[in-house]
Amino acid sequence: MISDLLREEIKRFKNYEVYNIECKYKMDANEIPFKLPETTIENLQEIVCNANVNRYPDPVSMKLKKRLSEYCGVLPENIMVGNGSDELIHIIMNAFVDVNDYVIYPMPSFSMYKVYAQIAGANRIEISLNDDYSYDADKFINAIKKYNPKVTILCTPNNPTGTVISKEDIIKILKHNHGLTVVDEAYYEFYGETVVDLIKDYENLIVLRTLSKAYGLAGLRVGYLVANVETVKCLSMVKSPYNVNSISQAIALNVLESDVIKNRVEYIKNERQYLLNELNTIQGIKIYPSNANFILIKFNNADYVYNKLIKCGILVRNFSKDPGLYETLRITIGTREANNYLVKCLKEILQ
Ligand SMILES: *Cc1c(COP(=O)(O)O)cnc(C)c1O
Repeated sequence: MISDLLREEIKRFKNYEVYNIECKYKMDANEIPFKLPETTIENLQEIVCNANVNRYPDPVSMKLKKRLSEYCGVLPENIMVGNGSDELIHIIMNAFVDVNDYVIYPMPSFSMYKVYAQIAGANRIEISLNDDYSYDADKFINAIKKYNPKVTILCTPNNPTGTVISKEDIIKILKHNHGLTVVDEAYYEFYGETVVDLIKDYENLIVLRTLSKAYGLAGLRVGYLVANVETVKCLSMVKSPYNVNSISQAIALNVLESDVIKNRVEYIKNERQYLLNELNTIQGIKIYPSNANFILIKFNNADYVYNKLIKCGILVRNFSKDPGLYETLRITIGTREANNYLVKCLKEILQ
């Protein structure tokens, strides 16, 4: 059997399954419900032609890095662009984590931390969040003292709970950590607080960002990280040279220059409050307040609600069987129309 040849770490592996169910309302993957900005669409032919796809792409995505460095208030040398921030998590593990090194991350959180730590053959320490999904910084500090991890990951706002860890707590953790602290800010724009400025004070801090969420470019696969110049150099040693394709670099640059994003983020934040208010009128469900573009809800029978919603044409993310998330569904905030339809369906399902 070919599978006998697999590395031992991979044999024990359970694949990351992505379900692709066609639904009119896609509220499962934390994407925004908007297409490319008008100005980008108008210039698309020029953007694509100028991308010179007969040539290899710029290996360091320099134009993008310049634009992102202005956006973040750092130098271009502090940035690395990846094929989604997923690739950057993989690169961090590849560069720093040996078999049996320790990797620490919150539980529940974004499932790819576990996947890439497993591929690296790391010892994984999962730090559970409190019952209300708030962070307990002391738990992280105690685990850091005990295991001396190469990499500690914090996700804020945390996917799928929407909860955050304060900057003070992150600083407390940074002060105790000799390994790398990775702060995943995939949902930064919906929250507004960042620790990017701390890279000047803490050489072991890496901040992860993505254009997949607020910028609406999930299909282009563009993520970036912000860190100390030395850290970026170390990570460059394991990065594939042409990791971000020319078309993605060119469109991402154009979208970063458009100003519709601010309005879109405001729209989603406004819908988040609207949806929270509407959901609060429904009896018998538990809503977790969110700082991102999704809301986690606990039901009495999440599978039942999940399947009924699909019959209504609404796809949400089902965590009903996931440890720490039993009976929960995660709903991505949509347009006003989608949100109203969702609330209407939920009321009918639960009555
Ligand atoms: C969506 C998401 C990412 C992945 O983003 P890509 O750039 O699309 O790979 C990373 N971290 C968290 C917490 C996410 O929710």
